[in-house]
Amino acid sequence: MQFYSTRTRSIKASLEEAVFKSLPADNGLYMPESIPTLSSSFLDTIENRSFNDIAVEVGHTLLAEDLSRRDMEEIVERSFSFDAPVVEITPDTHVLELFHGPSMAFKDFGARFMAALMSHYLVRSQKEIKILVATSGDTGGAVAQGFYKVPGISVTILYPSGKVSDIQEKQLTTLGHNITALEVDGTFDDCQRLVKEAFLDQELNSTYNLASANSINIARLIPQSFYYFSAYAQTKHLGKPVVFSVPSGNFGNLSAGILAYRMGLPVEHFVAATNRNNVVPRYLESSAYAPLPSIETISNAMDVGSPSNFVRLTRFFEDDWQETRKLISGYYFDDEQTKASMRQVFEQTHYVMCPHTAVAYEGLQKYRTESGQDFTGIFLATAHPAKFLDLVEGTLETPIFIPERLKNLLSLDKNAIPLKPRFQDFKAYLLG
Ligand SMILES: *Cc1c(COP(=O)(O)O)cnc(C)c1O
Repeated sequence: MQFYSTRTRSIKASLEEAVFKSLPADNGLYMPESIPTLSSSFLDTIENRSFNDIAVEVGHTLLAEDLSRRDMEEIVERSFSFDAPVVEITPDTHVLELFHGPSMAFKDFGARFMAALMSHYLVRSQKEIKILVATSGDTGGAVAQGFYKVPGISVTILYPSGKVSDIQEKQLTTLGHNITALEVDGTFDDCQRLVKEAFLDQELNSTYNLASANSINIARLIPQSFYYFSAYAQTKHLGKPVVFSVPSGNFGNLSAGILAYRMGLPVEHFVAATNRNNVVPRYLESSAYAPLPSIETISNAMDVGSPSNFVRLTRFFEDDWQETRKLISGYYFDDEQTKASMRQVFEQTHYVMCPHTAVAYEGLQKYRTESGQDFTGIFLATAHPAKFLDLVEGTLETPIFIPERLKNLLSLDKNAIPLKPRFQDFKAYLLG
């Protein structure tokens, strides 16, 4: 598979190059040059397959030129030792739980696959790699877990001080070894900008093999398409068209859903659900794309004012606004609506949602009302509610179940290096 730059169609890269470089030199994003579709015999029998089986088939269909089926099997096996179950909320509304991995957020899917893929290539080349990653909360934990003690790779995580939950912060700052956390006195957008600048800096690039683990890396995007197929497999017996509602910030998750759709997954419609950082819903409404500084909300992992995957999302539709909004509807919700949703679903069904997941739930309900259609609605649960313990317990006014893994974390000591959101400081730190 060749990948082209969204800015310059003639700039091309192999999978290996795209994974390690993350961004093309012109600062665009890598996109698959052509998107192969899955065979109808696969889709006809998909309900009988395991998650890993589906992952191998989808991954191999996309990347057959780059990796043998045996390589893909090994990478998938290393990446996914956890499930992505679909749970019924009501007969028409289901939740795809993506929080059963080690960091208890959906980003485990992308981060672990990327780590396995990089390791696969590193075994061959023996390069030392420095991974830079900006996190609004959950990416850092997933990447830290995914790359923890992987030989030949060190990870530097930038996170906005005071803007991630306690558990999220502990996930970033307690591993040690090849994982370092920088606590940035700024916003997530500042963190993301520092990382982007580092990739464009000549001196840093000649000193290190820099790689990014943000959702701009194509190796994170690809595995996120697998669970859309798996969710379809798990709800196919219901016999209705499927609508996915995706709680979105940087729009990697939704872009992966569109990739699955382009590979032939029968999806009727997608919902782009956001908090008040609503540039994409507003784009879908008005065709005007106006990035803004990010606003702080209770669904903090989606506090993104300038979504890095926007370009990719629209490129799947050849940048045609009309075509994009045929398949995607956008809705946004404020914190009060999000909390009301968490309470309502808990009172009616005893299901506990994290605030991000609640935004997706609300988006699905709104689309159902507006479209008047009959369908199987699947909203994506992107994090375990206990990752946002105080907020969730405060909102539901009841203690919730905390998995052992998270409980243990809280007793560990944080270890982070403070950083001002200035590129020269970041660069000086990296050059050490
Ligand atoms: C990262 C994250 C999101 C947003 O995903 P994008 O791919 O950036 O749109 C939503 N929910 C949670 C819990 C997250 O960690």
